[in-house]
Amino acid sequence: MIKKKAFSGGVHPHDGKELTNTKNIKIAPLMKEYAVSLSQHIGAPAKAIVKVGDTVLKGQKIAEANGFVSVPIHAPTSGTIISKNKKTSAGGRMEGGVDSVIGPTGALVPMLTISADGEDTPCNDLEPILSWQDCKPEDLKQRVLDAGIVGMGGAAFPTHVKLSPPPSQNIDTLVINASECEPYLSADHRQMLEDTKGIIEGILIIKSILGIQKVCIGIESNKPDAIKAMQEESRKHNIVVTALPTMYPQGSEKQLIYAITGRKVPMGKLPMETGCVVQNIGTAFAIYEAVVKGKPLYERITTITGSPIVNPSNWRLRVGTSLADALTLAEGVKNPDDIGKVILGGPMMGMAQFSLDVPIMKNTSGILLLNKQEVTLYTSGPCIRCGSCINVCPQSLMPSTMGVQIEKERFELAEETNIMNCIECGCCSYVCPSHRPLVQLFRRGKSEIQANNRKKKV
Ligand code: SF4
Ligand code: SF4
Repeated sequence: MIKKKAFSGGVHPHDGKELTNTKNIKIAPLMKEYAVSLSQHIGAPAKAIVKVGDTVLKGQKIAEANGFVSVPIHAPTSGTIISKNKKTSAGGRMEGGVDSVIGPTGALVPMLTISADGEDTPCNDLEPILSWQDCKPEDLKQRVLDAGIVGMGGAAFPTHVKLSPPPSQNIDTLVINASECEPYLSADHRQMLEDTKGIIEGILIIKSILGIQKVCIGIESNKPDAIKAMQEESRKHNIVVTALPTMYPQGSEKQLIYAITGRKVPMGKLPMETGCVVQNIGTAFAIYEAVVKGKPLYERITTITGSPIVNPSNWRLRVGTSLADALTLAEGVKNPDDIGKVILGGPMMGMAQFSLDVPIMKNTSGILLLNKQEVTLYTSGPCIRCGSCINVCPQSLMPSTMGVQIEKERFELAEETNIMNCIECGCCSYVCPSHRPLVQLFRRGKSEIQANNRKKKV
């Protein structure tokens, strides 16, 4: 049975999933080069432990975690570390012996480029742990860190940190996010159909680390085949699968926890305050591979889609594959003169890109191309106080007021209006008849507030 309404607010954008949701996942062939970012996660960038000229093996650690909120990075194939930053259209420079190149967010990130030797020789540093049921939770958590696992739904938060709630925090429920509410993306959907057993084993490993009994998987109702497949496998392990209404942003942590457990995350608090830990199904599969197969995280499922693409499809891509190489897998574009936008991720929360040299990251769930007609440029106008943005905000915020406050650079007032609770879902921008750039304003406002708060602490 599907709930009628799972949270307040939200929107129903055209989902475009029909382009790829029946397409099996294909394994990408080996590319000539991989540009591996050392900043693929929230937290401190990893620290390079190899240099230009070194040879590396597939799965070898090439950068180590640089603090608790950080993860190591592994080579996606065997080959030689080269420097290429002068050749990339994304620009960049060399810092501390490592290329520093403009990444998907537009900021300079440290990058190691591997020229593949074509052998794809593995290093097998991580031994498979076949009887993980006999392991201590700390040892399993260490494996999650050693394998460089981050949240693969988009946030890229280091997973070992999320699996380390403070002892005072009573966690009783694991919520698995399989809603994949972003339009156009079908990577999670296909993985649920094709890697069902591995996902469930990964979930059991997470459950063992957290030492809890209750697990719920939330899947949007527009994926009935995935719901059926996951229900059949979950039943054996007393895991509940809940069909949720198809409504964006169903996959946002706070909305998902409320939809599944009825628990509300208080304003300004973390989801774990409700006793829940949320993990994405792609992350669960990565944990399964890290533990049972001894495989670090150097590849992921990515949907390559959009009307300009010749063959929209789902791919198992190695981290560091350039967007240009990834597009060739989907047989390129129909008309290069009619590309309006290239987005990493989905249309609601994804990031527009200006260079096809930008590489796939651990959290790249999709590459979306839109044609010129689909990205009609608007001129934004003043707020007409229609209230539409307030009606759709899933966080019960006042987007219209916050937008004006940021425009007038009244950052303290915006903070009082709870701008820091904005999840940047884009629902307000989506419905605004004046085409106000609300999310962009909120991103600016939040970074100004964070910078001011840091200054106050010094
Ligand atoms: S982007 Fe922020 S303010 Fe706008 S609807 Fe989403 S949560 Fe609300
Ligand atoms: S939807 Fe746009 S015009 Fe309407 S109240 Fe919100 S910001 Fe103003």
